Amino acid sequence: MGIGIMPTTTVLKRLAKEHGTPLFIVDHDVLRRNFAEFGRRLPRVQAYYAVKAAPMPEIIKTLYDTGASFDVASIGEFRLVYETIRHLPAKERQDFIWDKIIYANPIKDRATLEELDAYRPLVTYDNPDEIRKIRKHAPHAGLVLRIRVPNTGSIVELSSKFGAAPGEAVDLIAAAFDAGLVVEGLSFHVGSQCMNFDNYVQALTLSAAVLEEAATRGYPLRLLDIGGGFPAPYDGNVKAFRDLARVLNLELRRLFPKELEILAEPGRFMVATTATLVAEVIGKADRDGKRCYYLNDGIYHTFSGVFFDHCQYPIKAFKKGPTQLSAVFGPTCDALDTISQAEPLPELNLGDLVYSENIGAYSHASSTWFNGFPPAKVVHIDGG
Ligand SMILES: *Cc1c(COP(=O)(O)O)cnc(C)c1O
Repeated sequence: MGIGIMPTTTVLKRLAKEHGTPLFIVDHDVLRRNFAEFGRRLPRVQAYYAVKAAPMPEIIKTLYDTGASFDVASIGEFRLVYETIRHLPAKERQDFIWDKIIYANPIKDRATLEELDAYRPLVTYDNPDEIRKIRKHAPHAGLVLRIRVPNTGSIVELSSKFGAAPGEAVDLIAAAFDAGLVVEGLSFHVGSQCMNFDNYVQALTLSAAVLEEAATRGYPLRLLDIGGGFPAPYDGNVKAFRDLARVLNLELRRLFPKELEILAEPGRFMVATTATLVAEVIGKADRDGKRCYYLNDGIYHTFSGVFFDHCQYPIKAFKKGPTQLSAVFGPTCDALDTISQAEPLPELNLGDLVYSENIGAYSHASSTWFNGFPPAKVVHIDGG
């Protein structure tokens, strides 16, 4: 039920024949369209693409060319972005690092801070210990306080690990200034694949209260980072992005002065619909009356989202014909490597290809080499 405009099945089959399988096909035309839609519907918001969703230099380059900034959460991601964009023509913006990269992991090890300091980055924090660490190891960073907000109804919960309680927020801002650091703004994350738009409304309301109290106490901040969570259109149950954008625009206008800089960290929204996986049937058995197919890709690889991302990707056959509910497994020896227990599939044979759409986010990114099976090969196309 893909809603993004996918490469045609002819193109998928041709690419699989040319490159072999499993094959992860990224369409940069869709990527540019997603970025353009985000900007068009949220004109006040600068998008910092959350690199962890699909950390590929080709994706970073295309997004940079269209005007994106980046959210990184490890020194590896920071270097990946920095090395990818540092040779590209600079945009008109003045302060390269701050405008282009935010380091949005509230907990950073000391070596990471020491390496980051030279770039004068924006970094998030949410506790007093991190203030001490930043003061010692990255005193030139600009700080962004991450606050905890409701994650109810988001598919992937992100609030139990990070975030200052709203009640302690202004004290943490004051503590950072007292330590000689500069706090630039606030951030939050409503949880990934957020289906409950009220999370954003509550988070914005909390943020407005914190910003106001901080200003009253003599700490006016200049930016608000509304995080990620923007849902990808995996199926018809996902409410349209334009409806979320309408809510956000109304609340941003109502709650915040025009001068406040607003940024966001969309990961999934940018890349989920950009990729299609083509895999091959490598084994077939009937067990307890159920047809079982074994693919050369599974949950230790491109289907890792089934496990880590609570995401189910329909498996589609290129073949037509009457279907039966079949189990679909990955290639490793672990029974956890189960893609689906009930997929309506026609009669397939060894060597037949199947495909899954909208598999661009949190998929290839968390592939392993478990059991000696390498991650899927990646190809980048431009429209298909
Ligand atoms: C993972 C993450 C994101 C991206 O979230 P999506 O739901 O994919 O948009 C953004 N910001 C932070 C801090 C994250 O950890």
